[in-house]
Formats: sequence, structure tokens, C-alpha cells
Amino acid sequence: TYNSIYEINSANEAMLRHRAEHDPLTGIINRGTFDQLRQVLKTKPCPIALLIIDVDKFKLVNDGYGHEMGDKVLKKVAKLLETSFRSTDYPARIGGDEFAVLIETPMEPQEMKRRLERFLEEISGILPDQKTSCSIGAYQFVFPKQVKRILTETDELLYQAKENGRACYVMGTCAEG
Ligand code: GH3
Ligand code: MG
Repeated sequence: TYNSIYEINSANEAMLRHRAEHDPLTGIINRGTFDQLRQVLKTKPCPIALLIIDVDKFKLVNDGYGHEMGDKVLKKVAKLLETSFRSTDYPARIGGDEFAVLIETPMEPQEMKRRLERFLEEISGILPDQKTSCSIGAYQFVFPKQVKRILTETDELLYQAKENGRACYVMGTCAEG
């Protein structure tokens, strides 16, 4: 009996922890967990990258197809991020239609570009009669910088991708601390 109570408590604890760390709609990690993971950037002396991904004109999807279809698109974006990157990369939902991928394990810029291009291509076909697209800021850095600046600078790259006409990525590299 003691063992079974212990097992039930452990299972409940694991379930509560999972719920606290993940986004209920998409199942990927949430903003809070993402913020915690970002703290590792301060200590890791290896190349790391951050991607910020925002769905283009997402309001039009909600307005044209309904909120439920909007939710389906968000789930598909999350799934596609999971399959487009490696098991050691961390896709997170950090806002309404905003996602991030925290990359801890080194990745060659060429490989990053290949994965980003495939993601952009695949995302375009997820709605039957309307093209869906995302804009992406991709920031690779060799030395950890101020965590705050990394987010700000990746956001700036995302903004440039939107300015460049959306449905594209803008990559930036930082080689100094
Ligand atoms: P832009 O290309 O500039 O990003 O245009 P946008 O229309 O995507 O603009 P914005 O990113 O500001 O819009 C985000 C929209 O996402 C607004 C909000 O109604 C919607 N949204 C936020 N959370 C959810 C959600 O959980 N489900 C659905 N269906 N919509 C959401
Ligand atoms: Mg958007």
C-alpha cells in the first residue's frame, strides 16, 4: 500500500510538472520553461543559436477560417518545428503566434539554412486553400551574451524578415561576447 501511494504521488507530481512546463494547446514547452532554459546561455561556452518564428498575418487565418482553425495552424507549426529540428533542440511557444527554438548543440550555418528553408516550404502547404507562412529571426552566437540582448537582437532579425516581405528568415551571427 505504501508503495502504491508513493507511485500515485510520483505520477501526480510528474503530471503537474509536465503541465506547468508545457503549453496546453501545442504540447511544446511554454514561455516560463523557455525563459529558464535561456539561463543556460550564460554558462555554455559553445556556439548556440536562437530562432524566433512568428506566423504571418495570422489574424487573417482566424478571421477567414475561425479561431479553431487558427488553433490547428498553431499546433501544426509546433509539430513542424519539432520535426524540422533535432531532438536536442528546444521548440517553445513563447506568445500567441510566436515560437522559438533554442539550439544548444552546435549546428553548421549551412545545416541551419537547409532546415529553415525546408520548414518554410512545408509550412506553406498546411492549409488547403490558403498559403500559410512564417517569418524567422535566426541568431547564431559563439559566446554567450547578455540573455536579454540575445532575445532583443533575435527579435530585431525577425522584424527585418517581416520588413523584407515575410515568408523568409534573416540570419545574424555574433562572434564576440
Ligand atoms: P504579422 O504578420 O505582422 O505577424 O501579422 P499577424 O496578423 O500575425 O499579427 P499578430 O502576430 O500581431 O497577430 C497575432 C494574432 O494571434 C492575434 C491573436 O488574435 C491571435 N492569437 C493569439 N493566441 C491565439 C490562440 O491561442 N489561438 C488562436 N486561434 N489565435 C491566437
Ligand atoms: Mg503574427
